[in-house]
Amino acid sequence: MGQSKCRSCATTLEHTFVDLGMSPLANSYVKPEQLNRMEPFYPLHVYVCGKCLLVQLEQFSSPVDIFSDYAYFSSFSDSWLAHAKAYVDMITPRFSFGKNSKVVEIASNDGYLLQNFVARGIPVLGVEPAANVAEVAKGKGIQTKVLFFGEKTARDLVEDGWSADLIIGNNVLAHVPELNDFVRGLKLLLKPSGLVTMEFPHLLQLMNQSQFDTIYHEHFSYFSFLAVEQVFAGHGMKLFDVEELPTHGGSLRIYAAHAEDSAKQIQPRAKELKLREQMAGYDRLDHYLSFGSKVEGAKRALLSFLISAKQEGKRVVGYGAPAKGNTLLNYCGVRTDLVDYTVDRSPHKQGHFLPGVHIPIYAPEQIRQTRPDYVLILPWNLREEVMQQMSYIREWGGRFVVPIPEVQVYS
Ligand SMILES: [Zn+2]
Repeated sequence: MGQSKCRSCATTLEHTFVDLGMSPLANSYVKPEQLNRMEPFYPLHVYVCGKCLLVQLEQFSSPVDIFSDYAYFSSFSDSWLAHAKAYVDMITPRFSFGKNSKVVEIASNDGYLLQNFVARGIPVLGVEPAANVAEVAKGKGIQTKVLFFGEKTARDLVEDGWSADLIIGNNVLAHVPELNDFVRGLKLLLKPSGLVTMEFPHLLQLMNQSQFDTIYHEHFSYFSFLAVEQVFAGHGMKLFDVEELPTHGGSLRIYAAHAEDSAKQIQPRAKELKLREQMAGYDRLDHYLSFGSKVEGAKRALLSFLISAKQEGKRVVGYGAPAKGNTLLNYCGVRTDLVDYTVDRSPHKQGHFLPGVHIPIYAPEQIRQTRPDYVLILPWNLREEVMQQMSYIREWGGRFVVPIPEVQVYS
């Protein structure tokens, strides 16, 4: 039994959703000169609240450097840029945003999304905690404040005249340690007729597809639609619409408004998803308690495959060095005894080692040179793209392996 309290309703957390043991921070890639140093490991123990059923990482002494040197630039991903543009093309006419509107994005990164509003002449403000990333946005002419978002920031922004018609948060809600402070801030910053849209991975997909590797220390909460609706309701807001998106293995885009905003009627797809989650058991504690054994099964299946391959004298290498790969390999205890190396297109990761398991990261050309028998695709959400890029491994009979939702070999 844990000592921690639910970050939504403050009930003591007693029920384990899944315990992935101790794990290093997923984005702390190891430099060659650091290989002999001690590495900090933190618990990856996920609980489900017995009262409000919010699935969440327990409190751990969170290191300050978890976000401060965040090097991820959204504009490096073509598909994410296209996703952002499609969103702006959809939302602007639907809610008639124009030159008199105010749009605020939280965790606005390098301006990958807000630039589309700027192009339409709609006033925007980005709120971004990572100073180096915010600088890039400012360089593009996107007004950005280097701040963490919460109640205090919201009050300051309202005082500065930034009460918002639209507040956007993509892949930030799950990352917020102080969930109530954050949602209280949304309520304060939102104009009476405004709306909030937030995107985050959908717990229903995580459970259905056994995506336990998307659990890492930066992700504090794992939301069902039912759970997130309760969080917003606790702050006088309602979720009036929702979309299911294919991003990050299956995400939700929720639409929130003030509870008393009668112009925002609950849409059929919000009612339908609630019903679907209820039918699947997301309103009952026992549904959540079965996940741990499913994850243990996935671990055994991956290890069985890797051990058999090794016994047959086959060589297995990885593709990619994503955060989710670090959770997977550390939880399964897979080191260079089972996977020789991995490759990544990012020059920032090449020459480094995966945290914890210390598997070396090379440039993708290494695969052509060493002609391995199996390539284990760690960013399984990009499997189609990777198999297309690397189709040349078939020249020597190489095969792709995808670990999630269950080990699958593609010939
Ligand atoms: Zn709770």
